Amino acid sequence: MENLNYDLAIIGAGASGLMAAAAASKCIPGSRILLLEKNATAGKKLYATGNGRCNFLNQHASAPDFNSREGSGSAAWWIAPALNLASPFVLEKIFFEMGVPAIAQEEGRLYPRSLQAESVVEALLLSIETEGVQLRTDAAVASCQQTPQGFILEDVHGKRETARCVILATGGKAGMQYGSQGDGYRLASALGHRIVKPIPALTQLLLEDPDPTLFGVRVRGEIRLYRHRAGISELAARDRGEVQMTREGISGICTFNVSRFYEIQEGVDYTAQLDFFPESAPEELLTVLTERCQLLGQRPASTFLNGMLPVKLAQGLLREAGADPGGSIKEISVDILRRIAALCKSYERRVTGTKSWKDAQVTAGGVSLKEVDPLRLMSRRIPGFYFAGEILDVDGPCGGYNLTWAFASGWIAGTAAGETGCCD
Ligand SMILES: Cc1cc2nc3c(=O)[nH]c(=O)nc-3n(C[C@H](O)[C@H](O)[C@H](O)COP(=O)(O)OP(=O)(O)OC[C@H]3O[C@@H](n4cnc5c(N)ncnc54)[C@H](O)[C@@H]3O)c2cc1C
Repeated sequence: MENLNYDLAIIGAGASGLMAAAAASKCIPGSRILLLEKNATAGKKLYATGNGRCNFLNQHASAPDFNSREGSGSAAWWIAPALNLASPFVLEKIFFEMGVPAIAQEEGRLYPRSLQAESVVEALLLSIETEGVQLRTDAAVASCQQTPQGFILEDVHGKRETARCVILATGGKAGMQYGSQGDGYRLASALGHRIVKPIPALTQLLLEDPDPTLFGVRVRGEIRLYRHRAGISELAARDRGEVQMTREGISGICTFNVSRFYEIQEGVDYTAQLDFFPESAPEELLTVLTERCQLLGQRPASTFLNGMLPVKLAQGLLREAGADPGGSIKEISVDILRRIAALCKSYERRVTGTKSWKDAQVTAGGVSLKEVDPLRLMSRRIPGFYFAGEILDVDGPCGGYNLTWAFASGWIAGTAAGETGCCD
């Protein structure tokens, strides 16, 4: 113990690493804690969250909201004890005590009262500074070796440090421009941990043959992602909300939420179906459209769906259904009317991929949950080695869920490492 420089070293000063440092230093005042960050500043990604406003928690976040890429696909079995210890309510109180009161917006999303991400970063930095945590930036950790006393860490400049415990909080690979570039997977697997293949999540879906005239359209509806394998199709995911048409495909929160279920695999294909009238059954919609033909019969056919859908989309659907834009609404044939109704309920395109790691907001996959104790977030393989945040195989939907996890896991790992690693 005497010859170790630090009681605890935390790798990564993002959301989870900063919170881990705050928790550990508060837990045992006076302990020697080192926080190592690859970037020139701490919390770079946090500044970009929630469009600069930082949707830092979700009041409703609970275990069933979180996914894992292993087993059944749900992380609920593993994450429940952690969220009991550090619930959104507890975290809101922790931030309040750090000087950041929260305000609630729609669907339980919590933001700092200032509506500035900067407030969250500043509060975390002030907390760790007050408790004497050493923050070293421009220090990308290149290796972490276990020794009988603890760990030896070496950064890319060859600077070595020793610590009794380590928390790995390097994030995943999403939003790579902010520093999380997958280093953590290398460090964790060098110590024998299994990595569940990471894929980009909360990102756009790229579609085959996107209609360029629809670019910019925003419409409420349902998105259904279908997986096709060996002649069998299954619903992989569905969500409702605002869909945004982009040049290459579709975006918007509901698209983001289903994107984690897309994975490039040999022999597997995906299609995305958009339902622009999820509140109506197909036959009901056909009845509505038939009545509309009678009501608006004299008008040009090109205006048939105007008022029900954004004009660009209305025009696109009529074109795709083969309606003659030169005729009048009453001249639309029964066949065409059925095709229009079918397209409104199921506008389908093949999915060719997702946007890159740079555009993704979160990583699905990571360090296998089976290798980590859910109560303390300590490795089951390497005592004294902890995990926090997106590095683990846990991901949540849009709406403050992923930061809830980052802060909850940071708090738990920091407290556990503080209690076990810094107390003697
Ligand atoms: C644009 C954008 C907007 C988002 N908005 C929201 C939102 O509003 N609400 C929400 O809940 N979630 C949001 N997210 C997701 C959320 O930001 C992440 O899930 C969360 O930041 C993960 O925290 P983390 O600490 O695990 O990783 P990160 O925040 O990625 O932090 C990891 C840190 O480790 C550092 N690091 C990496 N490798 C090394 C190394 N070898 N040595 C030293 N340091 C290293 C990185 O530089 C980085 O600072 C958003 C993500 C993006 C990209």
